[in-house]
Amino acid sequence: MALRIIHEEGDAVLLKKSRPVTDFDKRLHILLDDMRETLLNAGGVGLAAPQVGVLRRAVLVMDTNKEGLTEEEQIIELVNPQIIEQDGEQTGQEGCLSVPGVYGIVTRPEHVRVRAQDRSGQTFEVEGTGLTARCFCHEIDHLDGHLFTEKAQRILSEEELQEMNGEN
Ligand code: ZN
Repeated sequence: MALRIIHEEGDAVLLKKSRPVTDFDKRLHILLDDMRETLLNAGGVGLAAPQVGVLRRAVLVMDTNKEGLTEEEQIIELVNPQIIEQDGEQTGQEGCLSVPGVYGIVTRPEHVRVRAQDRSGQTFEVEGTGLTARCFCHEIDHLDGHLFTEKAQRILSEEELQEMNGEN
């Protein structure tokens, strides 16, 4: 496994639409393994392939609602993910490893159901609520070239960020 560079806002790769994964081969497995290592190293809750410069429809989401799992075990790999159901609404703070130090207020569904393939091409469905639902939406947006900053009602100010850090 190897760490990959996380591309940041301003890099054109983040604005492009990713292509579906068609080959569930060693190349995909290396990409997913590298993404896992990169995500854990960066301390995020999700990562999409375009963030590491690969325009393929693959993302990782950490299911932080699951207790008793290690960070590594919380990672869900989703290849060619699609939101097939969504309901409710949540408005809250969101950030992105590609937009370091910036947080905004974004409204997302409270609950989503996602259909995806695993690394061997097997189709499965997974549900998420709260932060996990937010993360599914955020990562899938990356595959269509969208960043959370486009959807944010507003970006938090310096003062708000300091307050937020102070609370932690
Ligand atoms: Zn992001």
